[in-house]
Amino acid sequence: MKSFGITLKHSFLVLLLLLLSLTTEAQRAKYVFYFIGDGMGLAQVAATEAMLAARHNNDGFDHLNFSKFPVTGIITTHAANRLVTGSAAAGTALASGHKTNINRIGMNGDNTEPLNSIAYYAKARGKKVGIISSVSIDHATPAAFYAHRPDRNDYYEISQDLAASNFDFFGGGGFAKPNGGGDKSPTTWELAQNAGYTITRTRAQFDTLSPAAGKALAVAPRLGGSGAMPYAIDQTADDIPLAAFVEKAIRMLHNDHGFFIMCEEGKIDWACHANDAVAMAYNIEALAQAVAQALEFYQQHPDETLIIVTADHETGGLALGHALTRYDSYLSMLTSQKVSMERFAAIADSVFAIPEHNHPDMAMALVHKYYKLGNDDGIQLTDREYNLLQDAYLVSTQQKKIDDKDAMRLHYGHEHALAATATRILNNKAGLAWTTWSHTASPVPVYAIGAGAEHFSGVYDNTDVPKKVAQAMGIKMEEKKRSEEIELIIIDK
Ligand SMILES: [Zn+2]
Repeated sequence: MKSFGITLKHSFLVLLLLLLSLTTEAQRAKYVFYFIGDGMGLAQVAATEAMLAARHNNDGFDHLNFSKFPVTGIITTHAANRLVTGSAAAGTALASGHKTNINRIGMNGDNTEPLNSIAYYAKARGKKVGIISSVSIDHATPAAFYAHRPDRNDYYEISQDLAASNFDFFGGGGFAKPNGGGDKSPTTWELAQNAGYTITRTRAQFDTLSPAAGKALAVAPRLGGSGAMPYAIDQTADDIPLAAFVEKAIRMLHNDHGFFIMCEEGKIDWACHANDAVAMAYNIEALAQAVAQALEFYQQHPDETLIIVTADHETGGLALGHALTRYDSYLSMLTSQKVSMERFAAIADSVFAIPEHNHPDMAMALVHKYYKLGNDDGIQLTDREYNLLQDAYLVSTQQKKIDDKDAMRLHYGHEHALAATATRILNNKAGLAWTTWSHTASPVPVYAIGAGAEHFSGVYDNTDVPKKVAQAMGIKMEEKKRSEEIELIIIDK
């Protein structure tokens, strides 16, 4: 009887262990989507959701898909040497799990030690890797996942790391400095091509891109001067939206060993640097549409897919409330803005370049056309606001110079004076306030769903995020190896 009892107990234990190992296996994230809304704090998400509700004349919030995820966390974002971080240090933290100094890309603070990203570890375990960004693909956030450089501005050197990464898919923006800012040869395009990447630069090439092409670099057909995709609000049917790059990445990378896809919506940050809530909201919606592609995949592979959405830092010090509107909000006003502040600035400059159009009435006509500010049928301007616009017109056309540097910074930052002022007035009248043209140290949200999502609950540091992703994937990130050595492991496999 006694021995039978032990055997029964033993077999029960074996069964329990087997069940446990099966459940942990089932919870392992084989497919990982790592979304980063650059500059996307809690206020950015909430303002977008309130603006979506206001579009339908509702109060409150129309929730985006990712803010309905079952698990949420809050992360601190500070750099090793500064409370208010930058995208390079924050990107390195989110990629490698290590704090570093401002401007480092995948390097420690002293530039003595390379820091490898979770993407490298995923690749070394046989997963396919995709890196996507709506800004240039050599920009700080995407670069932190594949490059090791002392300075984020080493764009050409970063693109050398991209070519050497052997990652399977890059998508979104182009290169910030294809010739290294001079006449460097080979160009960044040639570097990628020589490394075996199939490059698509038109819509037709993008549409026919299939896994048969092998490693690919899929670039948006229309790029700004800095190699970024246009703002979502300014995109037309000729542009490829961020969601289409995620859809393509899934198609290119789907395989039995799994994949790791990092997708950055980088222009949320640019819109917030410009204090342009409308452009920001359109780009956050573009991020949500990209997340929708991941959710569709998740529904087909719910036990093996992890989706996280987070941010590298908050930008702009956005608040839902303004001194002049007190307890009221008028967010439906924001529907009257037709283009991004950046696009408005370009339009205004091209108009003022014609001497007979360079006058104050034209400035007011433009502000009315693109923001619906002023005139009898537009949003009423106070005398103070009218004077602010007149002053800004004179500054932006160099007819007036403000010597007080603090006043210049407070009013216009580094932006086009008229565009910044029109945008600021509309934002404030709607009940939104911005405290800075830079980043802030406010903590940012993490949203998670799927295999291993439970690890992402609570308040923690940005360096914990990739460690939690690794935990969910069942991999370790502790080896200190240069990326070249990790590549050898891949080749050995
Ligand atoms: Zn950033």
